[in-house]
Amino acid sequence: MKRKVGIMGGSFDPIHIGHLVAANEVLNIYELDEIIFVPTGHPPHKEGLRADSYHRLMMANMAVLSNEKFSVSDIEVKNPGKSYTLNTMREFHKLYKNTEFYFITGTDAVIDLPNWHEPEKVLKLCRFIAASRPGISIEEVSEKINEIKKMFGGNIDILQIPMLQISSTDIRERFRTGTSAKYLLPECVEQYIIKNGLYREEKCPRNEDRCEYAY
Ligand code: NAP
Repeated sequence: MKRKVGIMGGSFDPIHIGHLVAANEVLNIYELDEIIFVPTGHPPHKEGLRADSYHRLMMANMAVLSNEKFSVSDIEVKNPGKSYTLNTMREFHKLYKNTEFYFITGTDAVIDLPNWHEPEKVLKLCRFIAASRPGISIEEVSEKINEIKKMFGGNIDILQIPMLQISSTDIRERFRTGTSAKYLLPECVEQYIIKNGLYREEKCPRNEDRCEYAY
């Protein structure tokens, strides 16, 4: 029997409870064996109030510690070039034989699939789960996803996750303005953000000038 592995792709800037609940829901519903969180590299168009890939990777690692079925891969972060999901999925297929992959990400990203690098090939390598947050019209999303399926084939499911009301954008804004973000993200991640001064200013500390770090 094939193993079933979820690949949770996103910036995780920062990782929050919504991501963890979404991953756990997919794990339960699709009876997956494990989920691997894959933070993206640092796309140049996402400068500003953003954390360096090193910090995002560290936060993701801390967030998954309490779940033996969750882990984090640095496959995209360690790659200095542009990370295409096609390359990432090819790498995972090389590493894990006899495995069926489920790529989990936000609906915004899935709707944008036609603009990805070789979407048809990506859709052959994994089944997609589009995690939808409250407030997004499922009818509208389904319509767009049906068009994508017609264009490229493949399997794309939509899953509504009420906890995705929590968003990284809102969390970053809270740290910038000094508003509490307690309970929206794991406490260790909150402490890490405070300790490293992330999201306090328009530009986050970069890898090379990161402060002391004990982990
Ligand atoms: P993003 O900026 O982090 O997220 C876009 C939206 O989806 C945000 O609303 C985000 O909410 C939500 N989201 C992100 N990851 C999620 C997850 N795993 N579960 C639930 N919701 C999630 O991400 P992105 O840059 O669009 O990329 C998403 C994934 O698609 C990445 O793995 C990326 O590599 C891949 N991608 C590939 C290509 C390509 O191959 N050419 C192009 C675009 C994207 P929060 O802000 O609250 O997280």
